[in-house]
Amino acid sequence: SAPRRSFDGADPLTVLHEVYGYGAFRGDQADIVAHVVAGGDAIVLMPTGGGKSVTYQVPALVRPGTGLVVSPLIALMHDQVEALRANGVRAEYLNSTLSGPERARVEREYLAGELDLLYVAPERLNVPDTRALLRRGSLSVIAIDEAHCVSQWGHDFRPDYLVLGDLVDDFPGVPRMALTATATRETHAEIGRRLRLDDARHFVASFDRPNIQYRIEPKTDARRQLLGFIRSQPEGSAGIVYALSRKSVEQIAEYLRGQGLDALPYHAGLDVSVRAANQSRFLRDEGVVMVATIAFGMGIDKPDVRFVAHVDLPKSVEGYYQETGRAGRDGEASVAWMAYGLADVVQQRRLIEQSEGDLAHRRRLQQHLDAMLALCETVGCRRQNLLGYFGETSAPCGNCDTCLTPPDTFDGLVPAQKLLSTIVRLQRERGQAYGAGQLIDILRGARTARITQLRHDELATFGIGSDLSDQDWRSVVRQLLAREVLIAQGEYGTLGLGEAAGGVLRGETPVPLRRDVLGRAGGSTRVRK
Ligand code: ADP
Ligand code: ZN
Repeated sequence: SAPRRSFDGADPLTVLHEVYGYGAFRGDQADIVAHVVAGGDAIVLMPTGGGKSVTYQVPALVRPGTGLVVSPLIALMHDQVEALRANGVRAEYLNSTLSGPERARVEREYLAGELDLLYVAPERLNVPDTRALLRRGSLSVIAIDEAHCVSQWGHDFRPDYLVLGDLVDDFPGVPRMALTATATRETHAEIGRRLRLDDARHFVASFDRPNIQYRIEPKTDARRQLLGFIRSQPEGSAGIVYALSRKSVEQIAEYLRGQGLDALPYHAGLDVSVRAANQSRFLRDEGVVMVATIAFGMGIDKPDVRFVAHVDLPKSVEGYYQETGRAGRDGEASVAWMAYGLADVVQQRRLIEQSEGDLAHRRRLQQHLDAMLALCETVGCRRQNLLGYFGETSAPCGNCDTCLTPPDTFDGLVPAQKLLSTIVRLQRERGQAYGAGQLIDILRGARTARITQLRHDELATFGIGSDLSDQDWRSVVRQLLAREVLIAQGEYGTLGLGEAAGGVLRGETPVPLRRDVLGRAGGSTRVRK
């Protein structure tokens, strides 16, 4: 390995200047570094792009011994290590991609005390041989990156993370750090508990990403809306479009290509070589739109992603925050855009009902979905709602759709009562339950074949909601679902009375609803006059 000066015992700021060429520490970086250099444990919550790497790399250089970095992102280790070596840092990694002789060389260098940093995949660490090897050398700091992977409630859960708490037994006295860009208060507490970081100091940076503009609009025709949104962005903008299924990923990518956009698909069902090729085109070329499932993005370091679009509803606010957070890491203006509709809500509820796991687990999923719906349906500032979810209070931001164009609201009590009483009558008089489509046809007095056949035109509520359009009613249903006035059940999403229905039927609960405004990005078209 290349000879270099040792930074053992050096001043952190000197290391920051000489190794990275940065003028000063940012945010909490200096405090975190000082705390860890002095031997303290730390839990670091910092949004993506906040500068977490420096907080463990500098202590690793300043303290004697090798800094151990546990990271699940094997695909990125090579690049991370190369970047460090380019700065004169002696860094190596141990993962399944190394050949036998390469691994032997890294192990030798580690034992000889020649490494500043050693990146290891969690599954490696759970091999007894690796633990034994590490014990024979000397560690300066242990950094567990992407620490939210320890949470069984999150969608990035890795069983290998569960045993990382044991590292404290192998290396008493070595400061340990857990770092993540994703954590609600729940996951935060779970990280501390599972990684046995009881005495760690917590460094929680603001999760606000002021350069990201949040926009959520009701879904009517997802593809056309998406196309309109992308066309409203500066030409050649790179972006990510998230969709739920592999099939819709492929269809949307094809549709966008057909419209002349440089769009590529990415999902776990594609051949590894296709995935790698698409990813590297996205990283390398300008103006590529990656249409992907959530399999894409973790650890992708592309600073100039100008937009992230969702055509399906994410399962949780955490997921939404993490995915949208891939936009604008360079600090330049970026947009997080989403279209969501009634069908999304019905589909997600169905997935929860069908999910494996006990009642408590399903309830947890339901709470995640409810928080996501509340964000979608809020008449207040999106950012305030989003940050509130992470326990932060903030003022209205002025950079989200509801701040820029405050939504009109209207008193939805009467429409809600009409809908609820239709549901109640069908249930009482006929013992029947229906989904939104049929209920709306009844309310609007539509004379469809199905209405006639089922004699739904004989119901007392037939036609009492003809003052609202089909689209308006869908919006009402969506918002009532979000507030648990309604619940969607079963495979077909039949609507039933939710917990909050009683108060509405009695006229005790006010029902302020937002009027949907479509196409806020371009020429705005009101659904209702
Ligand atoms: P994270 O891991 O939190 O997503 P990184 O550690 O990758 O963030 O840092 C994000 C970006 O900020 C990188 O481009 C990095 O070079 C830069 N950066 C980090 N700390 C500083 C600093 N003190 N001064 C200037 N740039 C910094
Ligand atoms: Zn706002």
